[in-house]
Amino acid sequence: MRQKIIAGNWKMNNSNIESLSLVKDLMKFDFSNDVRIIISPSFTQLGLVNEQVKNSNIEVASQNMHFSENGAYTGEISSSMLKSSGIFISILGHSERRTYFNETDEILKQKVDKAINENMEIIFCIGEELNDRKSGNHYEYIKVQLENTVFSQPYESWKNIIIAYEPIWAIGTGETASPDQVQDMHLFIRSIISEKYNKSLADTVSIIYGGSVKPSNANEIFSQSDVDGGLIGGASLKSEDFAAIVNAS
Ligand code: PEP
Repeated sequence: MRQKIIAGNWKMNNSNIESLSLVKDLMKFDFSNDVRIIISPSFTQLGLVNEQVKNSNIEVASQNMHFSENGAYTGEISSSMLKSSGIFISILGHSERRTYFNETDEILKQKVDKAINENMEIIFCIGEELNDRKSGNHYEYIKVQLENTVFSQPYESWKNIIIAYEPIWAIGTGETASPDQVQDMHLFIRSIISEKYNKSLADTVSIIYGGSVKPSNANEIFSQSDVDGGLIGGASLKSEDFAAIVNAS
């Protein structure tokens, strides 16, 4: 059965005190156990936030990780470092990493392989640019992103893969893909997973949407049949908004 997931990507925001206060506020809400709630603070706060949520149903993910075990990679964080801080989920392939830090499909494939080999769970982000959508190339673009990365994983690995469809033109722009556009792409992604593997696998993969989700549009987006939740940026920084989005899922 597909899991409902709401993940908050805090990006490079918040002091330690602000993050602790945000997480304490979130823990005051009485969330349904039907939805997995994941928050993703910066590297320096993973341990702190993870300690704070330990008796709740909130999980913590990193926003990135390196593909090597250890070595001369100044400024990078490995899967074993994450695991030793109690972090077993990582967002990979966020469009901001791809755009500002030149993370190519080739690099991301190595990160996916490493995370999966380490038995970590990944929220793997894919999404097209506005030009690709305008030219009608968005399906092909998404297919290639998947083929170059997670599609080299064997069937069994997919229990640890969550796909986040995040059209780049909708991230942090206030512009949201329409519920029909979201459903259409999620259905497409599910259908190519089905073609590559099989339908029973495709029916169990959670595909979440990201791109300017807010309390006012969450319900309509999440009510689409192939949408299993959301990856939330800006609105995850306010506890009331994030809680309203969780409750809309
Ligand atoms: C994101 O960063 O993954 C995201 C979807 O951001 P926002 O919700 O702010 O568009």
